[in-house]
Amino acid sequence: MNINELKGIGEKTEKVFNKAGIHTTDDLLKYYPRNYDIYEMPLWIRDFKCNQICAVKAIVYKQIEIRRVRNLQIVTAYLQDDTKNVIRATWFNAAYLKNTLKPGSSFVFRGMVKENRGAFVLEQPKIYKINEYKELLDKMQPIYPLVSGLTEKMVTKAVVQAIKVELPVKEYMPGAVLKERGLIDINKAYMQIHFPKNKMELKQAKDRIIFNEFFDFTYSLRKFKDSDKDNENRFVINNSEVISTIINDLPYKLTNAQLRTWNEIEKDMSGSKVMNRLIQGDVGSGKTIVATLALISASLSGYQGAIMVPTEVLARQHLESINELIAENELNINTVLLTGSMKAKEKREAYAKIESGEVSIIIGTHALIQDSVNYKNLALVITDEQHRFGVRQRESIANKGSMPHIIVMSATPIPRTLAIIMYGDLDISIIDELPANRLPIKNCVVGTNYRPNAYKFIEQQVVQGRQAYIICPTVEFSEAIEGENVIDYCDTLKNIFPPYINIEYLHGKMKPAMKNEIMDRFAKNEIQILVSTTVVEVGVNVPNATVMMIENAERFGLAGLHQLRGRVGRGKYQSYCIFINASETKKASERLEILNHSNNGFEIANEDLKLRGPGDFFGVRQSGDMEFKLGDIYSDASILKTAADMVNRIEDGEIEVSDEEKQRLDEYIDKYIYSSGLNI
Ligand code: ADP
Ligand code: MG
Repeated sequence: MNINELKGIGEKTEKVFNKAGIHTTDDLLKYYPRNYDIYEMPLWIRDFKCNQICAVKAIVYKQIEIRRVRNLQIVTAYLQDDTKNVIRATWFNAAYLKNTLKPGSSFVFRGMVKENRGAFVLEQPKIYKINEYKELLDKMQPIYPLVSGLTEKMVTKAVVQAIKVELPVKEYMPGAVLKERGLIDINKAYMQIHFPKNKMELKQAKDRIIFNEFFDFTYSLRKFKDSDKDNENRFVINNSEVISTIINDLPYKLTNAQLRTWNEIEKDMSGSKVMNRLIQGDVGSGKTIVATLALISASLSGYQGAIMVPTEVLARQHLESINELIAENELNINTVLLTGSMKAKEKREAYAKIESGEVSIIIGTHALIQDSVNYKNLALVITDEQHRFGVRQRESIANKGSMPHIIVMSATPIPRTLAIIMYGDLDISIIDELPANRLPIKNCVVGTNYRPNAYKFIEQQVVQGRQAYIICPTVEFSEAIEGENVIDYCDTLKNIFPPYINIEYLHGKMKPAMKNEIMDRFAKNEIQILVSTTVVEVGVNVPNATVMMIENAERFGLAGLHQLRGRVGRGKYQSYCIFINASETKKASERLEILNHSNNGFEIANEDLKLRGPGDFFGVRQSGDMEFKLGDIYSDASILKTAADMVNRIEDGEIEVSDEEKQRLDEYIDKYIYSSGLNI
């Protein structure tokens, strides 16, 4: 059901919900809380901890004080608990509290504990009557992710209605699976994920929903694999002599890992079976050149090869570097770019060249898989930074040819055991070595007060001819979301830096043509400081950029931060990454500390996992790449493994499933694949 049929959602509100990706009641049902507020038993004041939300049952010990500081009114109360300890509590602009907080009256106060001049203070605590607090005790209130214009109340109200519309759903998981895993009913799980009565209920709901996510995914992969029986190599490709010459003439020496990977590809493409290979390599490990060699080899054999990337900026960069390599080696190969923002006429021209075979290397975005594109003889399909594409897109580009070779490239650091599950039927090559000329990136994690130094440092780098990225978490100012935004930040910087330094911004909501222009100018060093959202995270290569400064670093997952950092340190210059931590929590600084002392993606993923421990409820998600709504392939790895194992046992007849159950499951999975929440 469309959400506009719900009570309280008019045209305007609908748009706000849409911004959060919510269109239907089903979306709402699966719009899971990012956290829960738990009302715990009040503590003694002596047990309070700094920077934590704490509650205390206390009496107001004397008349409250009201002070004015500039245009703020500060209310201070002294609260005494039963052990006679006293703590100060403060509120802003709340003189009306005088009527409530009479000396001698008792309440429960709940708020953030801060330290001020050596003593603990309770900041802006909420005030509850003692009985009222008893009612709330141990209840969990959902906290939803918000976008500008959306409030917790609005989401909660809509979710309550959506639950009524959507539930009950039919159980599709075979009984034997539920029983063996001790999983709760799916309807109960949906209720409990939004409104758990206690931690136990939340855990049950998470276990069930995460299991579902992994099960659905691995079951779908298994289906793809089973339908892929005919795997004869129809495009035998072998040009090892020419490719060896190209490799020898490169301005750098390939690393051993690059060479090994290339050999694996060459063996696959010239063998008897079609290639299905994942190339995994940390950011900056040099995956592009390996992919390019494969494309050139396919082309030299008279076939077409296509490479699909997630952004236009990246597509254009790849085009340029491939063209350069072709020119340097005086090869007779024509290339073409195909992206969504090209004019209709340009697109038609590209289509014609692709269909006639005039071009043999095709570089583009999703536009490569549109219906109107007909390939002459597509023998190789590469997807770069593939986690941005669903399995389905991968399939549809493969279907454009007749069983082409496939290479999937990914920088997501994922242990081999998990990779085998996540990538199903792909063989895996790992580029586990960085080019030798790289100086390790120098990192620092600092507070916001360090900004002036950071700016001075960036200025010095620019004077030396280098460039810098500054990343902010959001595009524009919004009351609902804290953190720096690209637009205001860029304005501020223009007032700080001297006018000869060009500063521009980049974000995902800009028109593609505009984005291309900004990125081109940055690549040419016409822009020296680029203030951007994480749109630059994916693959972009500007080796002259040496500083990456990330505002609100505490807001990003470690894998995302590592990707961002990978935008610098791509050339011969010493590079620097400055993580600005605007949070005061210990956890945030511990997490960021991991990045501070390691530049290795695998290591970071492992450390992060250790720090959080599996099953950590409230941690920042490790990676937005593997887009399961709730499950996290790192911290829920054991659930992932079990789910994959059970899929195999069902398929191998080792788990007892009735015909009726099997049919229901297959129907469900077919629907799931084609409605595809599957974004892997
Ligand atoms: P990624 O694996 O992140 O996609 P790229 O393929 O974009 O990395 O390579 C990053 C940079 O390293 C590019 O500028 C590329 O030309 C350069 N490069 C690739 N391989 C080597 C190598 N063996 N030695 C030196 N530089 C290399
Ligand atoms: Mg890349």
